[in-house]
Amino acid sequence: MDINLFKLCSGLKFLGYLMILLVLAIVAVSYYAVVLLTWGPRLLRGGLSSFFAFFVLLLFHLLLILLSWSYFMVVLRDPGSVPENWRPARDEENFEGDGSYLPHEASGSGSTWPSSNGSEGRPRSGFCIRCQNGKPPRCHHCSVCQRCVLKMDHHCVWVVNCVGACNYKFFLLFLLYTFLETTMDTLVLLPSFIDFFSEAKDHSDSPGKLAVIFVAFVLNLAFALSLLCFLVMHGSLVFSNTTSIEVYEKKKGVRWKYDLGRRKNFEQVFGTKKALWFFPLLSEEDLGKIPALHGLEFPARSDVEV
Ligand SMILES: [Zn+2]
Ligand SMILES: [Zn+2]
Repeated sequence: MDINLFKLCSGLKFLGYLMILLVLAIVAVSYYAVVLLTWGPRLLRGGLSSFFAFFVLLLFHLLLILLSWSYFMVVLRDPGSVPENWRPARDEENFEGDGSYLPHEASGSGSTWPSSNGSEGRPRSGFCIRCQNGKPPRCHHCSVCQRCVLKMDHHCVWVVNCVGACNYKFFLLFLLYTFLETTMDTLVLLPSFIDFFSEAKDHSDSPGKLAVIFVAFVLNLAFALSLLCFLVMHGSLVFSNTTSIEVYEKKKGVRWKYDLGRRKNFEQVFGTKKALWFFPLLSEEDLGKIPALHGLEFPARSDVEV
């Protein structure tokens, strides 16, 4: 039986829609456990307990707004499409002596870079046979989206979208705020989770309430731990101006051609406006002066050690 792997990949898109429901379900369970079952009722107790509950609930809602905002920005924002009939503005190696365009075809999947001369010196462009279009530097063909994505990092089933040049910042903020929210939920549910065992024994609380607190605590703890690993990984990628795909393309002992220094690498994703670093927004000024935010051109290091 012939199995078309690319068809299977595009099936992941439908799995993604279930993931959105799963994300909403996790948020709903956490909201119910933290706000309605544990900390909401403490607001009415008065004294220090109310004061502390107010801050827990304020922080919970603030993080929830920021993570939802970032989430929908990643889901809805185009990660970066290649303009129709795109051709490199000036890329001598793609042109024959007579000036005609010489399309490169990546081996196998059509989504990896040709490495004819092994040069690490400057950005190179190619051609995607499946899109029948030029392929800017750092662009990759996504088998799930079935199109080329600019500065593609990975296809994320949680956001039913590719993560690329135009939504990477939003993805990172989504990771950050979800990590902070799940860590906070784990900490504020910990006393109730410990009580879970004694209350389950004494039958002092309804089994439904105990089950929700138990599930919310375990889910939040699991997410907080896995998100911490992702955050550390993506943090190091941002500061070295590398995508998850490019990690496998880098050569050992050679400084990465797009590495412009930690500060500039960070600004290539988050922009230069400090006030906007923590929000899923980019200023018009940054969009105008940082070509990397559009995903078609990337400054490379001039002093390359080849
Ligand atoms: Zn393509
Ligand atoms: Zn994709």
